[in-house]
Order: sequence, then C-alpha cells, then structure tokens
Amino acid sequence: MFKRSFLLLLIAGLVLAGCNINLVTPAPTAVPGQGTLKVAFLDVGQGDSILIQAPDGKTMLIDGGRSTDLAETVIIPKLKEWGAPQVDVLIPTHPDQDHISGLAGVLEGYPVKLAALTGQAHSTKIYERLLTDIRDKNIAALQVRTGTAIPFDPAVKIEVLNPDEAAVNSDDTNNASIVIKLTYGTTSFLFTGDAEMPANKAMLDRGADVRSTVLKLGHHGSRTSTTEDWLKKVQPQLGIISAGKDNSYGHPHPEVIAALEKLKIPYLRTDEHGTITVTSDGTAIHVTSEK
Ligand SMILES: [Zn+2]
Repeated sequence: MFKRSFLLLLIAGLVLAGCNINLVTPAPTAVPGQGTLKVAFLDVGQGDSILIQAPDGKTMLIDGGRSTDLAETVIIPKLKEWGAPQVDVLIPTHPDQDHISGLAGVLEGYPVKLAALTGQAHSTKIYERLLTDIRDKNIAALQVRTGTAIPFDPAVKIEVLNPDEAAVNSDDTNNASIVIKLTYGTTSFLFTGDAEMPANKAMLDRGADVRSTVLKLGHHGSRTSTTEDWLKKVQPQLGIISAGKDNSYGHPHPEVIAALEKLKIPYLRTDEHGTITVTSDGTAIHVTSEK
C-alpha cells in the first residue's frame, strides 16, 4: 500500500488542485452498469498494458506488454477478475514489442471484438504475427488516425489525439503512437503510448485539449516524452509511469521525476507499486495499488 509520505502528497496534491479523492483499500468493486469506470495500469514490467472497463461493462485493452506469457499471467486473469466476457476494443498503440508481444496470447485465449490500430508499416515478426492473427481470426479492424471515432460505452468519450497520416507514414514508431483521451464525467485520462515530444507538439499544434485528470506518461517516463512544459499543458492530478524494475533504459528518467515533484504532481509507478487501478464515478477518482 501507499507509503504515508506518498499518501499525504497525493491528498495534498489533489486538494490543491481542487479535486476530491478517496483512497480505498481494498479496491472498490465496480459492478458494470452502475456508473463506475475502471482503469488498471497492469504491472507488465518494462512495457505498457492498460485495461479499461466502462460503466456499461465494455472493455478496452491498450497494449499487451513485452512478452507473450503476459496474456496468461497478467492480462487474462484481470479480464476474468472483472467478469469481462470479451475484449471489446483492442488498441495496439504502435508496433514496438514492449507494447504488443502479450497481445498474441490475448487473441489466442480471449474473444476480441474490434482491433483499432494504425497499420503503420513495420517489419518485425511479432508485429506481423499480430496483424496476421487479427486477419485470420476475422476480427474487425479499424484504421485509427487523429479524430477517428472508436465505438465504446456512449457514457465515455473516447478521442483519438494522435497520430496523423504523416506520422504513420514515417518510420518513427513512438511518435505514431495512438494517443487516446478518455473522458468520463468531469474526470479524464490521457493514454499516450510511447509518444514523444514531436507527437506532443503535433497534438498541441492541432489544437487538442490535452488537459487530463490522469496522465499515463509517455514512453515509460522517458525524458524524450515528458517535460515541465508538457506537464503544464496536461495539468494532471495524477501521473502514472509504466516501467520495469531496474530496466536498462533508466526509465523513468530523473529529470521527469524532478519535473513531477517540482509541479507537485503525485505519481505512481508500476515498477514500485505493481498494478495500479484508478476508478472514476464521473466526478472523483479513487486510486489503489498492488504494493
Ligand atoms: Zn514502449
């Protein structure tokens, strides 16, 4: 559970931001259809995997971590825990292996209704397998660009803020990440994949409203994604970093942690706190973590 100092920081941060928070232990049980949105930032080591369950019970899986076994060990158990009969929307943010490797097992072991992806050209075995699996299993595929409407619970607003066509046509995978802003009531989440500064700038240049209650920091807390200026644009009340313990990239970078602390933005890290679950009733967020 949270260290006391963190708990105080979190409460102080949210009070300062004029927001209401409840820290509940153990995690509140949300019954689909009764008004709770659940977002789990799964502990998949160095990589990303985020499972979302809308108030109507629909599920969205953004990314699947860096190894195939994560489907069986982490992702599918969470789907079962939440009583989800299927993945309604699967979003591989970009072709990098630390985001898509676990998806093969999900496609193998669980029904998936729709895959929303950019289709960026990238020739790795794991990416080709993902595209082949989607095709062979006759899963509906939606090509995603800025502004694409992704079907989900109508009570939840899903906006695609990135990428545009030019980003998809480049060979830079990180900056062609699908970036989703999810809004439920007055609470919102920004899921950034591995988007870095060029993508952040592109979103702002397109006039995107990036302000969000919860920010999943881009690229595992890399200095190439998060700056003080970017944090001032997003104005998150909670930052989430998905990174592996002692990873070889040095994620999250010390400059990013310093910027979060300077701006008094509370943050949680999967490498320290395990799976982090944020629930929203449409007006307040509740945060729980495994460790
Ligand atoms: Zn990554």
